[in-house]
Amino acid sequence: MPRPRHLISTLLLALAVWLWARSYGGADVLLLLGPGGRAAAVASWRGQLLVGASTVSLGDERAWTILPVRPTDDETIELAHRLLADPTIRRAWGGFLWARSAPGGNALGVPGAGFGAVAVPHWLIVTLAAIAPLRATRRQWVVHRRRKTGRCAACGYDLRESTGQCSECGAPIAPK
Ligand SMILES: [Zn+2]
Repeated sequence: MPRPRHLISTLLLALAVWLWARSYGGADVLLLLGPGGRAAAVASWRGQLLVGASTVSLGDERAWTILPVRPTDDETIELAHRLLADPTIRRAWGGFLWARSAPGGNALGVPGAGFGAVAVPHWLIVTLAAIAPLRATRRQWVVHRRRKTGRCAACGYDLRESTGQCSECGAPIAPK
């Protein structure tokens, strides 16, 4: 019987895997416009999840809005190039990325605009998301085996000679 927590963690894992697979077919971008319409974004693209913020303003009237975007591949490459071509402080390793534009930079082609971003590989997110479901599955398997071999599901104590409750931990014994 799956518990709600097990179900939620499994769904989160499925979502992480789905987003990872999807990232190779194009970019998913969530454009977040902050105060003054300053652009920030969360992007999933080519096996990476990127979080970036800039001082580029897309207009006061668009402040505090969220725009989901699914750009075509050419647009994505163009946008990524514009964002990442200018930063002078940039480290990339195995799907990890850390970038920051130089002071008085040129983010998105806007003079004086700044930009910073970090990216982590989707495999890391999927690995972390897999921990809880795997532990829950292992726990279910342990309980199943204990029950099958006549031991207490809670502590593993041999219950073949016991009735009512476990003499080791006090857990009630499920009737057979
Ligand atoms: Zn017990």
